[in-house]
Amino acid sequence: MNIEQQITSLRVELQEHNHKYYVLDTPTISDFEFDQKLKQLQALELAHPEYDDPNSPSHRVGGAVTKNFETIVHEHRMYSLDNSYSKEDLEDWETRIKKMVDGDVSYTCELKYDGASISLTYENGALLRAVTRGDGFQGDDVTTNIKTIKSVPLKLTGDYPPKFDIRGEIILPWEGFNIMNEEREALGLELYRNPRNTASGSLKLQDSAEVAKRPLDCLLYNITGNNLGITTQIESLQKARDWGFKVPNASKLVHSIEEVLEFVNHWDVARHDLPYETDGVVVKVNNLQQQEELGYTAKAPRWAMAYKFKAEQVSTRLREITYQVGRTGAITPVANLEPVELAGTTVKRASLHNADQIEKLDIREGDEVFVEKGGEIIPKIIAVDLTKRPVISAPTVYISECPECSTTLIRKEGEAQHYCPNEAGCPPQIVGRIQHYISRKALDIEGLGGETVALLVKENLILDYADLYTLTVDQLLPLERMAQKSAENLVNGVEASKTIPFERVLFGLGIRYVGETVAKKLAKHYRHIDAIATASEEDLISVDEIGGKIAESVIAFFEKETNRHLIERLKAHGVQLEISAEKLANQSDTLKGKTFVVSGVFEMPRNDLKKLIEDNGGKVSSSISAKTSYVVAGDKMGPSKLEKATSLGVSIITEKDFLLLIR
Ligand code: AMP
Ligand code: ZN
Repeated sequence: MNIEQQITSLRVELQEHNHKYYVLDTPTISDFEFDQKLKQLQALELAHPEYDDPNSPSHRVGGAVTKNFETIVHEHRMYSLDNSYSKEDLEDWETRIKKMVDGDVSYTCELKYDGASISLTYENGALLRAVTRGDGFQGDDVTTNIKTIKSVPLKLTGDYPPKFDIRGEIILPWEGFNIMNEEREALGLELYRNPRNTASGSLKLQDSAEVAKRPLDCLLYNITGNNLGITTQIESLQKARDWGFKVPNASKLVHSIEEVLEFVNHWDVARHDLPYETDGVVVKVNNLQQQEELGYTAKAPRWAMAYKFKAEQVSTRLREITYQVGRTGAITPVANLEPVELAGTTVKRASLHNADQIEKLDIREGDEVFVEKGGEIIPKIIAVDLTKRPVISAPTVYISECPECSTTLIRKEGEAQHYCPNEAGCPPQIVGRIQHYISRKALDIEGLGGETVALLVKENLILDYADLYTLTVDQLLPLERMAQKSAENLVNGVEASKTIPFERVLFGLGIRYVGETVAKKLAKHYRHIDAIATASEEDLISVDEIGGKIAESVIAFFEKETNRHLIERLKAHGVQLEISAEKLANQSDTLKGKTFVVSGVFEMPRNDLKKLIEDNGGKVSSSISAKTSYVVAGDKMGPSKLEKATSLGVSIITEKDFLLLIR
């Protein structure tokens, strides 16, 4: 094989594995092998730029940055859908249809995926362009970002037409959404509200490498073009699957509205088990000839109808809007409601998110409001019942001063949230930072809880987390409900935290954007707090996975005199602010890039085994997949794990084998 053939064959092979993994969910090689092949391809491409192909699987990792997204006019308009909410609505629709077309009408029922619509154009089997819906007539070219979504085929297989558009939805499955939010929570950032907005926001990120990190997926539902040789909707879904697209299997061909309703009723319950969110069903006339006869209204196709699942909704009175201050100073407005039953729980409060949201709803104290529990975690206020608005009512004026410390609030350009800038003197920020410092994933101080921290601050016994180390039993005893025993526990817990490793202390400092993972990376790279404190922005960015935002925030933290002083005090108390010599001696890169699953009972404690893996540069994962490099099997390893590892061809090794691996 010459170089060009080698490159082509690697590309085809990698593309097949991508399809098996991300579309069919049945991988046949391990991640390690996949990465090897990808690296091989990247090396060849680098040495031979003359064979470049924008649709090479190597472009999946992202990296290209888009400053301005180009506007593209859709060759075929992207319509919206009409909504129906009842059997009667659907029957009316059928009556209208039957007046316009001859013959029997069958329907394809599909789930309505809740994400951001996308139109993909393919030419000669290669992805040419990906455009957002925009206003339906024209949208933004987001091709660079879409290419990072692994279930979007860059090259097609089978007998695809030379040119066509395919439409679908970019979604973010629940699991990935929850992981993203856990990370944000650890960073003290405002949580993403729902998967749909997060998916749709992802499309317009400027850095495609950021998009590549998000676990997005693309589900397709419509092929558009000329002379496609397809006659029904259900057939087109199968074709799309054959060409390599991800099309959920829930779709069903039915022959009456009765059957449509059966489909709806089934999925109204079963949807709760889906890995992603769906807010209804889309019913489409199956015969494409009939679709053409029916055509479009100004806004939507006449041949399709969305049936919306009912979100549970109630109305109640808004008593008062209050404002919460978080540990980073972010202000969140909260709606305090007259308690009301909704979907099995009593709802008393709902988040109003920010000033824009209040303005958009024009929500006022005393209003009767509609509260809904849909796909969101927190109940949401969807509208005000204007018919019930009291005669005397004034628009809500957003606070301009911090409710806790009266400092004038700031709102940075482009940010939705207001902030209290009084880091040093604002009580909830002071308390919040200390609570973060003592939390389980940080210094994990036993015998000290969040409420006690608040009390200690209130009593002026502590002002920052370094003050914890000077607390004495005598100081604590006069406090309410503080017995000798609990006071001793607290002081001992604080003492014990001096052995907590550097990376967790670094996380505990509460530097914005420095979550658990970033703290680990920084600790490992710099090994000492002083090296981090004096690193330049350039230097910080050169560390694997540290971006500009994080670097800026680290620098801002250490620029502050108070923070530098805080660190010096922690040092003086003996808190771990460097990687200990002992630990350093036990560290290596031997297992870099390898993922381990640990299963069964071992001679050494399980946690020590996991730590050994991480100290040597490996990753520990809890479930076996094609990404697993090794399963370390102890006594009594579960039979299902054994079977899974065997079927995926993952190497199974003993504790002894493992120790040899790192010697
Ligand atoms: P709406 O935004 O409520 O008008 O709903 C129309 C949108 O639903 C379309 O633009 C699509 O993006 C989306 N959608 C989700 N699933 C489907 C599906 N199976 N068929 C057609 N449209 C769908
Ligand atoms: Zn404040």
